[in-house]
Amino acid sequence: MNQNDNQNQTKIICPDCGAEIKKMENMEVGDILECQECGTEVEILSLEPLKYGELMEEK
Ligand SMILES: [Zn+2]
Repeated sequence: MNQNDNQNQTKIICPDCGAEIKKMENMEVGDILECQECGTEVEILSLEPLKYGELMEEK
């Protein structure tokens, strides 16, 4: 599933469980945020506009 169509997105929504993930104060591209609900990690891809994607764990 591709969620790159988000526009004017200000909240970070967990791609896995749909919970809102709290943003950090001084968030930067490349930062990793973790969903409080399910532990899914989301990487910040862009700030203006806000884009993010689920971080895939490498095995
Ligand atoms: Zn989640």
